[in-house]
Amino acid sequence: HAAPRQAAGALEAGLVIAAHGRHYLVQAGEQKLQCVTRGKKSDVAVGDRIRFARTSPNQGVVESIDERKTLLYRSDQYKSKLLAANVTQLFIVVATEPSFSDDLVSRSLVAAESAGVAPHLILNKTDIEEALPKTRERLQVYSRLGYPVHEVSAKAQPEETRAAFMPLLQNQSTILIGQSGMGKSSLINLIIPDADIAVREISAALDTGKHTTTFTRLYRMDEETSIIDSPGFQEFGLYQLSEGMLERAFRDFMPYLGKCRFYNCHHLNEPGCAVLEAVQSGEIAPMRHQLYAQLVHESSQTLY
Ligand code: GDP
Ligand code: ZN
Repeated sequence: HAAPRQAAGALEAGLVIAAHGRHYLVQAGEQKLQCVTRGKKSDVAVGDRIRFARTSPNQGVVESIDERKTLLYRSDQYKSKLLAANVTQLFIVVATEPSFSDDLVSRSLVAAESAGVAPHLILNKTDIEEALPKTRERLQVYSRLGYPVHEVSAKAQPEETRAAFMPLLQNQSTILIGQSGMGKSSLINLIIPDADIAVREISAALDTGKHTTTFTRLYRMDEETSIIDSPGFQEFGLYQLSEGMLERAFRDFMPYLGKCRFYNCHHLNEPGCAVLEAVQSGEIAPMRHQLYAQLVHESSQTLY
């Protein structure tokens, strides 16, 4: 079933807007084509810019992937699998109610930092006033680290929310994530009014059978602006990160790195550890160091 290789000149450029196994929906100009990878490979991600050889008017074979600016992974049973490529910013949607998980937020921040993607927190449902002060207080740990926190209300103030979002999205490739119930779908529908139709289209084009909506997809707003939604997505894959990458993904550790007594300090229980001293003195939040220790532990468990 492998298509014959064609001369380089015959290759066309496209953008991967959805993935399902080794089947990809690729936008090339105004057209959407179904592309497959060769053999059993499925190393293409939504957001990838690819070169493909056309095998029929609306089908093609992926021949190469353009160099990626960034790459995010999702967690898949103690493995990291590709989630999205070329994303420039990550919007983590949280809400006043239901309560969000600090662990999930912090892991997402680590994923973004290590990938060179700019993270933002979106606090939705600010209309639930009784829960607002406590939520704001909880988010302070992140805003103190310098992460922007944007307050919105998709349902109570849709127009204001849309107006606040649009300039943030311009000329960026943004991936939205959030635990279920935070209002991510409401936000997506505000930004992309015909999102539902697009999902049905993609579902049909990729022939996913049950019209499943659990695949990652990219909505292109203009040449330079796109939104990626990954429904059902729960956790970023961090297993591919080395210890050195992990410590640098904690921007609050930065001032202390290189100041520990041992040059190869793991910042776990070593004497003279500058990071641990900063935790002791309250300069680093204990929650942050606990997550770091947990991630070091997890990555040492999962050499694959
Ligand atoms: P998702 O699971 O993150 O995609 O969340 P949904 O968009 O489905 O929203 C979950 C629930 O929260 C729904 O009942 C929404 O109507 C509600 N919701 C979304 N945005 C807001 C908001 O700004 N304020 C309030 N009070 N409820 C909201
Ligand atoms: Zn140390």
